[in-house]
Amino acid sequence: MNILVINCGSSSIKFKLFEMPDNVVVASGIVEKIGNKDAIVKYSKNGINHNEVREIYNHSQGLEIISTLLVDRVKGAVKNLNEIQGVGHRVVHGGEEFTGSMIIDEKVKEKIKEFIPLAPLHNPANLEGILAAEKYFPESVQVACFDTAFHTTIPVVAYLYAIPYSMYEKYKIRRYGFHGTSHRYVARRFAQIMGRHKYDVNLITCHLGNGCSITAVKNGKSIETSMGFTPLEGLVMGTRSGDIDPGVIFYLVENLGMKPSEVNKILNKESGLIGISGVSNDFRNIVESASKGNKMAQLAIEIFCYRVKKYIGSYLAVLGRVDGIIFTAGIGENQPIVREKSLEGLEEFGIIVDKGKNQNCLATEQEISSSESKIKIFVIPTNEELAIASDTYEFTKSKGKF
Ligand code: AMP
Repeated sequence: MNILVINCGSSSIKFKLFEMPDNVVVASGIVEKIGNKDAIVKYSKNGINHNEVREIYNHSQGLEIISTLLVDRVKGAVKNLNEIQGVGHRVVHGGEEFTGSMIIDEKVKEKIKEFIPLAPLHNPANLEGILAAEKYFPESVQVACFDTAFHTTIPVVAYLYAIPYSMYEKYKIRRYGFHGTSHRYVARRFAQIMGRHKYDVNLITCHLGNGCSITAVKNGKSIETSMGFTPLEGLVMGTRSGDIDPGVIFYLVENLGMKPSEVNKILNKESGLIGISGVSNDFRNIVESASKGNKMAQLAIEIFCYRVKKYIGSYLAVLGRVDGIIFTAGIGENQPIVREKSLEGLEEFGIIVDKGKNQNCLATEQEISSSESKIKIFVIPTNEELAIASDTYEFTKSKGKF
């Protein structure tokens, strides 16, 4: 069965066509800089590549281009678009409503629209992608996979902020958490590797990419996560501050006369790694500058890892028993220095890194704990697309589409 996975960002569409249930990627690509004259189309299938720079007005046109490439006589992956039985969509915010993936119908679309104020950058693009896919893949089962769904098992003590309860009742202000598909994927993968049932593992999963979040998983379910009402809370990120005292915001607005939109921009776009280092939001550039003696780049690395360690400590307390700590996403998979520094000094808690294994582990699924470590430490490359493809495959099969 052919399953197309679509991930629409505010100005991009990433896509992968899977042959399921074999988990084989048949074709993949990205359309970037949507809304610009010099938008970029990148497509590849079995070593055949197609790269193009052209004007693309919106997501609908971007998806039309993708659908045309998928049936191209030379570069295409299928003869006819109706051979794509299911389309899986990444949707960032599913509120409290969606505890798992869903077949998309009018009600689901209404809800995604309703949650736009909770994810103003992402949900509109996700919805546009769904509407376009319904147009270009009318025969396919459309499935939405929500970033928030895995975290809907977080208990009230962890999701409620200590602000007037009416704020939750009236405005649904609470911790939602994000990157759920990634945390779920690595948690399930860990259970598979260890030969345990998916609900028989307690884990701390660290998704460290340009956006970063960390989750406490108890009996296979999320019970606490660092991102909150928005993806701004928690760890230090590429351009986001993570945790700060909300009093700083009032100080900037009331004492320094900044506009709320300026503060928003500072905390979301100009803080985190780039804010401290002044070098870049990309960890590779920061490591390079740090190695040349740039003190602020060195400090950015220290603060980043300190925050990860602080969260690991608090999640050890929340979980009690921990079977594994997992690192994933761009930084988690590729930066041994972050894994080493984040776990340094935690030997008393039964967390001991094998420095050699850690150093040599780059973007591969591997255990990096020493044999004396009570808690297993793993690098597990994330694969959100595969998780979405698997969910979509199950729903499509249940609809009798083979
Ligand atoms: P992501 O959001 O998961 O794509 O992760 C982006 C972050 O991961 C950036 O800070 C990159 O510097 C870092 N990253 C991605 N790939 C690599 C790599 N091959 N080596 C080192 N760092 C990487």
